[in-house]
Amino acid sequence: MTRYIFVTGGVVSSLGKGIISASIGKLLQARGYTITIQKIDPYINIDPGTLNPYEHGECYVTVDGTETDLDLGHYERFTGIRTTQANSVTTGKIYKTVIDKERHGDYLGKTIQVVPHITDEIKHRIMQNNDVDFVIQEIGGTIGDIEAAPFLEAIRQLKWELGNRAVSVHLTYIPYLKAADELKTKPTQHSVKELQAAGIQPDVLVLRTEKHLSDGVRQKVASFCNVDLECVVQSEDLPSIYEVPVNMQRQGLDAALLRKFGLPVGEIPKMEGWHRFLELQRTATKEVHVGLVGKYDLQDAYKSIRESLILAGIYNHVKVKIDFINSENITKEKVTEQLSGVAGILVCPGFGQRGIEGKIIAVEYARVNNLPAFGVCLGMQMMVIEFARNVLGYKDANSSEMADTPHNVIDMMEEQKTITNLGGTMRLGAYSCNLREGSRVAEIYGTPQISERHRHRYEFNNLYKDEYEKNGMKCVGVNPESDLVEIVEIPSHRWFVGTQFHPEYSSTVLHPHPLFMSFIKETSKGL
Ligand code: GLN
Repeated sequence: MTRYIFVTGGVVSSLGKGIISASIGKLLQARGYTITIQKIDPYINIDPGTLNPYEHGECYVTVDGTETDLDLGHYERFTGIRTTQANSVTTGKIYKTVIDKERHGDYLGKTIQVVPHITDEIKHRIMQNNDVDFVIQEIGGTIGDIEAAPFLEAIRQLKWELGNRAVSVHLTYIPYLKAADELKTKPTQHSVKELQAAGIQPDVLVLRTEKHLSDGVRQKVASFCNVDLECVVQSEDLPSIYEVPVNMQRQGLDAALLRKFGLPVGEIPKMEGWHRFLELQRTATKEVHVGLVGKYDLQDAYKSIRESLILAGIYNHVKVKIDFINSENITKEKVTEQLSGVAGILVCPGFGQRGIEGKIIAVEYARVNNLPAFGVCLGMQMMVIEFARNVLGYKDANSSEMADTPHNVIDMMEEQKTITNLGGTMRLGAYSCNLREGSRVAEIYGTPQISERHRHRYEFNNLYKDEYEKNGMKCVGVNPESDLVEIVEIPSHRWFVGTQFHPEYSSTVLHPHPLFMSFIKETSKGL
């Protein structure tokens, strides 16, 4: 008896459908229901793994190794669910499945068409999530986009077939016209008409707005769009995205949904943990500046890292201010000045040559000056290369991703590849890691074995392990099956840890990641 909530967006993109979907999930969980959230992306790429972060923002990775949209990160951070490949659908995946089936002869000579073959595959992907009380189904893109049409047709059919087990939530925008001093509902009316033209009547409207909407505006929208007044809620700009679930609850969004499904509404859940978190967020006023050393000057490019830093800050009673430092501009002459305002650095993940020398300079500065440093994936690899060049004396040390040198301290590990890369070319998804007793990371995690998500091709070269150990960089996290080094640390340093995996993917609002917690605790010492 799984129920389905279809979330679409209209008028403009970037309204925050992901945040609204995640908030709905959170509110239903608070009422004791099990949920999952699925994202449909209408692009033809199979997944965003090959997309430039400037196109698409961060690529998020699920535990089972699927490269997905960053909205899945919001879903996990808000609700604590663990997403898998079943939570991420793209037009590319749909067409590939249908075309593969056609080549295989599965359609027995039929002509393959968008309706019913593509729409049936979409419906199948939506309905395969059926082991929870509610599936929240977010449709990427904006109503009216040509590429969204098959998805809307699939939803139209499902709404018809599922009856009161399906509800449609439409998110739109109410612009404010300064010259007229008016809030305008017309774009919303047009957006709903477009949805109706596809055969879908929205049950709930969420109006994004920069200014508070009067009851009159909501009334107008309700009557022009055939939606009950109690089902028209507003989503005003708020100081933090984490205020959104509470704001939606205050307006009765969850209660309205339950009524639509014919389910009992009952008492409003208290959500104590969430409120405690919001209270901490509101009262954390002391600022700590962290330098984010990366190459993409775009908020979304390192989304999960940014959120993980901010969440860890809140639980450490500080407001983390993230200073983006473009690694392409870091030079030996200017590094002291460039890092002068930050209490610690996080060296970002990435691919390719661009900006890596700047990262290495920043790492050297942090190591020599005892400035807390956290390296993630490529960031960890830069810590390893810097140490080889400046401590072990291998001036030409590099990763074989960048250059073939006699000292590739980061390399493709042929013999391990067969163990870790079954089929693919990247190590993707969760792998276990044993932590060395007595190490800083073992103390931080408080457990001898962990499991974390990976997304990379190159590895620490074990031929150099002993030299690193002897000279003060310790390989304190190791994969038990392949013996690959997953974590390095310098125990004599204030806080110097590099992880080959991405801890940022598993930090959530109610459970901030221990490594981020410890890093922020150290950077905010003495405030
Ligand atoms: N480019 C590096 C590798 O493939 C690191 C990848 C990353 O930072 N995610 O190993």
